[in-house]
Amino acid sequence: MSKTWRPATQLVHGGSLRSQYGETSEAIYLTQGFVYESAEAAEARFKGETEGYIYARYGSPTNDMFEKRMCALEGAEEARATASGMAAVTAAILCQVQAGDHIVAARALFGSCRWVVETLAPKYGIECTLVDGRHLENWEKAIRPNTKVFFLESPTNPTLEVIDIAGVARLANQIGAKVVVDNVFATPIFQKPLELGAHIVVYSATKHIDGQGRSLGGVILSDTEWVNENLQDYYRHTGPAMSPFTAWTLLKGLETLPLRVKQQTENASKIADFLADQPKVAKVIYPGRKDHPQADIVAKQMKGGSTLVAIELKGGKEAAFALQNALDIVKISNNLGDAKSLITHPATTTHKNLTDEARAELGISGGTVRLSAGIEDTDDLIEDFAQALAKVNA
Ligand SMILES: *Cc1c(COP(=O)(O)O)cnc(C)c1O
Repeated sequence: MSKTWRPATQLVHGGSLRSQYGETSEAIYLTQGFVYESAEAAEARFKGETEGYIYARYGSPTNDMFEKRMCALEGAEEARATASGMAAVTAAILCQVQAGDHIVAARALFGSCRWVVETLAPKYGIECTLVDGRHLENWEKAIRPNTKVFFLESPTNPTLEVIDIAGVARLANQIGAKVVVDNVFATPIFQKPLELGAHIVVYSATKHIDGQGRSLGGVILSDTEWVNENLQDYYRHTGPAMSPFTAWTLLKGLETLPLRVKQQTENASKIADFLADQPKVAKVIYPGRKDHPQADIVAKQMKGGSTLVAIELKGGKEAAFALQNALDIVKISNNLGDAKSLITHPATTTHKNLTDEARAELGISGGTVRLSAGIEDTDDLIEDFAQALAKVNA
């Protein structure tokens, strides 16, 4: 593996551990444990004097390949694979705080992420302040003497707000706090939070990294020092480890990630432009468009637009439901990053647990739908939207 390889090459070859059989495709090592040549060898392994695996909850060869490939892509020193994106988020946050500490998080978070910081963390005496993350002064005002972690996603779900990651990292560094970025919506192809100054990056690999609707998975990436001091023991002893079978499907997913994200982004941007001109559409929010409210920050920190589009219909919930029901190729599903185009109505699905007021703060109305563009033919998707919109009563 060469450090100078560009992402598309890393994603096909990075991290490969070829066995004595010389297999082309990475092997799946479905084993819980490992055997030692002698009692002395076992002792040395446990003491950390020799390299090698001990138990699959700690690490195993197929997972190792996935973790190394993710490190190569992200420019991180260490990675730990987890059974789901939420296992990654929960571990990344809880492993570094204790009772009496304070977290500042952007209020626009994936629903389960918001539950972890807003509801779970306070049960263990960890305080949390939610802020409108679009404005740096809100992060600064929320800082307390015990603030240890800043947590954000950018672009956000579902209204694709953008947060200045480098700005938040500067504030965190002034007080010795760590910035955790959930980089799912941006994908590792378009945004590199570690280069922007963030300390820890987490993914739900369930989304673009698998990208084909097969597996749940997650990954946490950071530097060796942070992993050794914070994550290592938490990860080994609480058991969020990924199945080696999942690691294998995700290795296959990574091989085609740049191709899929490119086609999804092209589809998303063309659909966004098409919908922005339609009379039944009040507004389209797309990070790749000049009319995105934070187009300047998008240009500063993202290499591409997005595979997602937020669409606001003039006719409210009735129009949003009619559009979804009339779409043929685009399926109704709350997942995202898939090869198949998927659409969802956040107010009645992913964000149904929020109060009306909290939804309004995030810009989610009855007429809001979120599209995750797939890799289908662009013209087929635009034709699908055209025929479906014709069936919506304005
Ligand atoms: C899906 C998602 C998660 C949770 O991931 P799972 O794999 O479903 O556990 C976390 N954050 C964001 C932004 C997501 O889209």
